[in-house]
Amino acid sequence: MAVEIPFAIKYRPKKLADVIGQPVVVQAFTNAFKNNTMHHAYILSGNYGTGKTSVSRIIAAMENCEKGPTLEPCCECNNCKLIFEGKSFDVKEIDAASNRGIEDIRALNKEIHHCPIECRTKYIILDEAHSLTGIAAEAALNMVEEPPDYVRFILATTEAHLLKDTIRSRCITWKFNKVNWTEIFSHLKNICAKEELEYDDNALKIIAKSAKGSVRDSLQNLQTVLNYVGNEKILVNPVKEALGEVDQQLYFNLIDAIFRSDAPQCYIIINNIFKSGKEAGAVVRDLYGHLNNLLLAKTCKKNLPDFNFTEDEIKKYVHQSNKINGDYILKMVSLLKDVSLGLKFNLDPDFLFNTFFIECIVANKKSGK
Ligand SMILES: [Zn+2]
Repeated sequence: MAVEIPFAIKYRPKKLADVIGQPVVVQAFTNAFKNNTMHHAYILSGNYGTGKTSVSRIIAAMENCEKGPTLEPCCECNNCKLIFEGKSFDVKEIDAASNRGIEDIRALNKEIHHCPIECRTKYIILDEAHSLTGIAAEAALNMVEEPPDYVRFILATTEAHLLKDTIRSRCITWKFNKVNWTEIFSHLKNICAKEELEYDDNALKIIAKSAKGSVRDSLQNLQTVLNYVGNEKILVNPVKEALGEVDQQLYFNLIDAIFRSDAPQCYIIINNIFKSGKEAGAVVRDLYGHLNNLLLAKTCKKNLPDFNFTEDEIKKYVHQSNKINGDYILKMVSLLKDVSLGLKFNLDPDFLFNTFFIECIVANKKSGK
């Protein structure tokens, strides 16, 4: 039986124009490449799954494609193939988290002084570059400072602020943003069309939103859903079941129940959420998100479309926020912090949430609503 290629690999971008949701990075590298002003060292910073490794490979392929240099690597020549598989001898991908000893960096420093064998430009892609500390970071600094002119460095990191200032000052930094869910949604629609998959728009929106800004996670989530639904159409309920996503409406119901001092209803709702397999930590994060959205709805009602809410969500958040005053929302946020803290100490989630509901209800009564 043939092994299916994961979507995250199959649909990994192979040219800058195909990179989703990073227009600044795409424009910067396109212009630098066209104008022949590529720098010798870059820092690519941003969350997991936003495209740092993909962009690193693309620019390495742009310079080294056998049919190039070209903005659109052919993806067929030997150099392109090896670069996109992460196996090129001249385009080295190194995980700094597990190769952070001074000996590792010295070995790398030695290696960059050998000319590239098959490529025009040698690339050193240091993933998790912030993991380098102490003398290894010093050695890396020397290496980045004066590399041979056939070498380019790419330091990829989720924590750019942890990099030494001296390294940062020698590199051009580009930040990868979390990708807007509407862009992920369009991307998923294109993929469904290519794969001839039937779907309901709302189901695909849940997959897009659940990825929390990571294109890679959205593709993995789509694949998880496909494993669950088989050849059936992708519909809302199976998506929620497969991804363990809680219906947003339950959080509206929960806040309503708190607000009308209906503790039994709060217990029933939280019990159902736990029964659906959602972990307590994830419920806390969802509730923080919900309370934050209520604050947004209260403070910048007119700008809500800029925050990527759907029309239906805007209606619901505005409606609920109109019933609650801002101070009380902040009080709930503060009480929710106790739940987070209790979870860190492994206290019973049922107990923590039940206490949270009672405290919210008491605070509401005290404030006279
Ligand atoms: Zn090529």
